[in-house]
Amino acid sequence: MMMSYPQNVLLHIDGRWKGAAAGKTLPIINPANESVLGQLAHAQKADLDEALAAADKGFAVWSRTSAFERYKLMRKAGDLVRERADRIASMMTAEQGKPLSEARMETLSAADLIDWFAEEGRRTYGRVVPARAVGVSQIEVKEPVGPVAAFTPWNFPLNQVVRKLSAALATGCSIIIKGPEETPGSPAELVRAFVDAGVPAGVVNLVYGVPAEISSYLIPHPTIRKISFTGSTPVGKQLAALAGQHMKRATMELGGHAPVIVLQDADIQHAATVMAASKFRNAGQVCVSPTRFLVDQGVYDEFVETFTSVAKGIKVGDGLAEGTTMGPLVSERRVEAVAALVQDAVQAGAELVTGGKRIGNSGYFFEPTVLSRVPRTSRIMNEEPFGPVALMVPVGGLDEALAEANRLNYGLAAYAFTRSAESVARISSGIRAGMISINHLGLALPEVPFGGVNDSGYGTEGGADALEPYLNTKFVTHLQVR
Ligand code: NAD
Repeated sequence: MMMSYPQNVLLHIDGRWKGAAAGKTLPIINPANESVLGQLAHAQKADLDEALAAADKGFAVWSRTSAFERYKLMRKAGDLVRERADRIASMMTAEQGKPLSEARMETLSAADLIDWFAEEGRRTYGRVVPARAVGVSQIEVKEPVGPVAAFTPWNFPLNQVVRKLSAALATGCSIIIKGPEETPGSPAELVRAFVDAGVPAGVVNLVYGVPAEISSYLIPHPTIRKISFTGSTPVGKQLAALAGQHMKRATMELGGHAPVIVLQDADIQHAATVMAASKFRNAGQVCVSPTRFLVDQGVYDEFVETFTSVAKGIKVGDGLAEGTTMGPLVSERRVEAVAALVQDAVQAGAELVTGGKRIGNSGYFFEPTVLSRVPRTSRIMNEEPFGPVALMVPVGGLDEALAEANRLNYGLAAYAFTRSAESVARISSGIRAGMISINHLGLALPEVPFGGVNDSGYGTEGGADALEPYLNTKFVTHLQVR
């Protein structure tokens, strides 16, 4: 597959593509072969000040643009993303590693998300509240919250940006996106689609740099009125605390450690096949990745065997190569982190059924890995692996499975497989999670909620409620006087 990657990925500030004021750049690495793809402009304080002034100006224009005009422009941007999907997807694969088919699906679903948010923005109504007294009118108006600062990670370079960007634009907010430094090219193309569709200068700004420097400058800044962050729980807690200190509204989409409950009455072949495909998608670098497999002991061996045969059939390689079904991890750091967690689990007594090691010494490849009878005390049963590792644990029935599912303070996604209506009811009400998918994979469509509880964060980035965090409610009461 031919791939063209730009020599320089630039910042986008106040309607212009530009290098950083101080000229600083960072190399962009292809995780499949460690080659340098290009150079990334690295923003510093002067660039951030410019972006803040632009977002302020952009907000003044965009918040006064009608919802209908915003909708038309967003739909145009969505169409441009669709037209450019092949190029954007190949850039994403080159910088992130995921197979081209996954990158293409992510790009096309980004376009669908833009469309959905554009349409939903047209239905951001207020309401009239009947008054107690004659001559009084009471209205509730929805207003955009103001310029947004969004911080997005590298695992879904487009998807993590597009939900925040689309919600902000649909509601009339301007935005400064701090994109992922590891995978900057494809999100820059997403921004380009909005620029080419005609978004006014200052409405969408894109910066890259040192994440902690940028967040500690933007969050307290008086121009910024809302924060949205996707990333790890420890960083999310720091940013939420900073947002709290400065009374900024925040949405936090953090890590997970998704339990998968498989009961004896489930379709075991279906459960194992669907879950294995999901586990190894994006090499497990997915916040809703199925992780702790809590399988009834009566069907444990059958489940592990089928799951493992899918894992062994995965073709690991460069995501741009024909036939690859799993690419590399995004960075050396991730390979080291995953290897250390696997080693710790095996030392604690887990059985290594397949995988467990880095592949080769060029590129950040790691084997699809299945660990069986993993002790609950091992690190990997408590920390998010964020890699291609499935943890199998036999359980003695639903009570034990529910207790284990709720043992961790994470609460993002959960999965279950059973034919019993009673078990479905107990699982739906008994698991502490933001999203539960039973007998199939049904998460992350534009029109359904997406978000977690507890250490997995708060706020939804999908479904009808996803616009609310970008809106203020204003109440106006008026007594008619003559
Ligand atoms: P990391 O904690 O260094 O970074 C995670 C993300 O947060 C990155 O995008 C990074 O740029 C950003 N970040 C880090 N410090 C920041 C700060 N002070 N201000 C603003 N942004 C900041 O870890 P990593 O090695 O890049 O990724 C590994 C961990 O991150 C995983 O174990 C996983 O828990 C988490 N993660 C979660 C998601 C998700 O979808 N929820 C996505 C990517 C990473």
